[in-house]
Amino acid sequence: MLEGRRVFLFQSGLLVASTLAGCGRGASVAPAVAVRSWRGVVSQLPGMPTTDGAGVRLTRIIGQPALRNLDPFILLDRFHSDEPGAYIRGFPDHPHRGFETVTVMLEGRLRHRDSRGNHGLITGGGAQWMTAGRGIVHSEMPEQVEGFMSGFQLWVNLPAREKMCPQLYQDLQPAQLTEERLGPSGSKVRVIAGREGSLVGPVRERPTQPMLMTLALEDERPFELSTPVDHTAFAFVSRGEVEIGAEDRGTLVGEGSLALLGPGDRLRVRARGVRSELLLAAARPIGEPIVQRGPFVMNTEEEIRRAFDDYRAGVLDRS
Ligand code: MN
Repeated sequence: MLEGRRVFLFQSGLLVASTLAGCGRGASVAPAVAVRSWRGVVSQLPGMPTTDGAGVRLTRIIGQPALRNLDPFILLDRFHSDEPGAYIRGFPDHPHRGFETVTVMLEGRLRHRDSRGNHGLITGGGAQWMTAGRGIVHSEMPEQVEGFMSGFQLWVNLPAREKMCPQLYQDLQPAQLTEERLGPSGSKVRVIAGREGSLVGPVRERPTQPMLMTLALEDERPFELSTPVDHTAFAFVSRGEVEIGAEDRGTLVGEGSLALLGPGDRLRVRARGVRSELLLAAARPIGEPIVQRGPFVMNTEEEIRRAFDDYRAGVLDRS
């Protein structure tokens, strides 16, 4: 009987291994951990003002000298301005290879076009999850000449086996994101990827098993969430001030700060007196070498050279 069970487990392992080899497959789900541990704040870091694209002013949060990356997250930018001069020039044609770009639009309209004829409009309250895979050349341009433009762009790395996979777009209109009101005060959570209880984000299963959500807290009622214990997790506070961690042992995180969270299977966030807004993310670290040159994120220098060669030859998205 015991032998039979061992054989069964061994075969299950093989089955998981074989489904992992290939593009667009999800990762195996880690077994449930019985220990309940609260994630604490390990460190905090402000964003760094910079410009990118054709002169878009933004705040670089992950991907700055003080935090080159946070496996599997490669970059987090925040754009937030009502001055057209800060965003109007947008991001004209540029390439990507080897990872996924996620645009979270809070306010404003961004038009996306790529070298393969795809296009779409990302509007306030919506998101786009773009798997660049083997490569894409695209533009991301404001479709507005005035008014507020606010949101995030997050880059999520791909494991080596998925870096050269075909491109995949998930354009998510505001109504497609899963939203839930939290109590009577108007607090709400919007889930883009991952799940919490009955809330399931619309993004298809990705190799890093990402969780991504925005949270708006109108009162001091705590918000709690389960996360796989060993996934990388962060919170960025875009407005107000929150406390993160176990009850009575939380750490204050102020507006404009990124909080890196330690391991744990529960995450607890509570606003401190004022309306607070956050971006919360967690994902499974990949644990492979990262070689990044601008818009290409690969495992080796040779693969980076190949990406530049393919881009110059006009075959980045076809190789
Ligand atoms: Mn881009």
